[in-house]
Amino acid sequence: MLNPAINTVMLPLFQLIGLPTDINSSFERGAAHGPQAIREALWSDRGNLGCENGMEVSRDFILDDLSDLNLTENTASDDRLIQDAVAASLKQGAIPILLGGDHAVSVPVLAAIHAHHGPVTILHFDAHPDLYDDFAGNPRSHASPFARIMEAGYASRLVQTGIRTLTQHCREQAQRFGVEIIPMADFSAEAVPSLSGPIYISLDLDGIDPSEAPGVSHPEPGGLRIREVLAVLRGINAPIIGADIVELNPSRDIGGVTAILAAKLIREIASRAVVIQQGA
Ligand code: MN
Ligand code: MN
Repeated sequence: MLNPAINTVMLPLFQLIGLPTDINSSFERGAAHGPQAIREALWSDRGNLGCENGMEVSRDFILDDLSDLNLTENTASDDRLIQDAVAASLKQGAIPILLGGDHAVSVPVLAAIHAHHGPVTILHFDAHPDLYDDFAGNPRSHASPFARIMEAGYASRLVQTGIRTLTQHCREQAQRFGVEIIPMADFSAEAVPSLSGPIYISLDLDGIDPSEAPGVSHPEPGGLRIREVLAVLRGINAPIIGADIVELNPSRDIGGVTAILAAKLIREIASRAVVIQQGA
């Protein structure tokens, strides 16, 4: 049963693309197994297709699963594969949703997004600002993607929420790039500014509190509650043109709850994007 306000003729198509790599994770690996775990949760009969706004999001409805890319642990060639896959999705008029993988994958994704849409607004959920100029000598570390993205001019605006590990270096980087950080202390969804589109959502699952999202490689206490993330998503009112859900490490998950959460967030992002597109 669809929300009666939804025009099914005009529905956007979301394309899921798995990016099974964790070669740029700084400490613990395991995120390469994220896409498969998210898919299993997404298509499991254990779950529910219904979203909180009343829409149903299913594989045969608006979610097209393009499976995983054959990544090789060679970042330069993997970047090319990722960029080409996202470019092909955008060329079809689809909204790509990338399944990580470690957070370094967002760099080639945003390269393709920028080539198609120009500079976008990025709404970033994360415990970490991921702004290191390099981390342990690796400029493509998963601790550095937003330094690369801002240097390249892929974003007109970067708004970060959930951040609770800001080092002096990253604070300087944030100032240098004009990054807007909503402090985790005293967080409220109302503190997130109204954003104009096009909007890209980059969601590192470790932005959420480890009590609600334990299956990540680098858990950081004191994080966002799931309900706070949903409130921020519900506050978006400009077109969503792509998203990534990254850093799920199934080997650290408990009962698959983080994979199930990732699946829910995909449905919630997609259903929010539909409502915004249709002005419903
Ligand atoms: Mn991250
Ligand atoms: Mn993180």
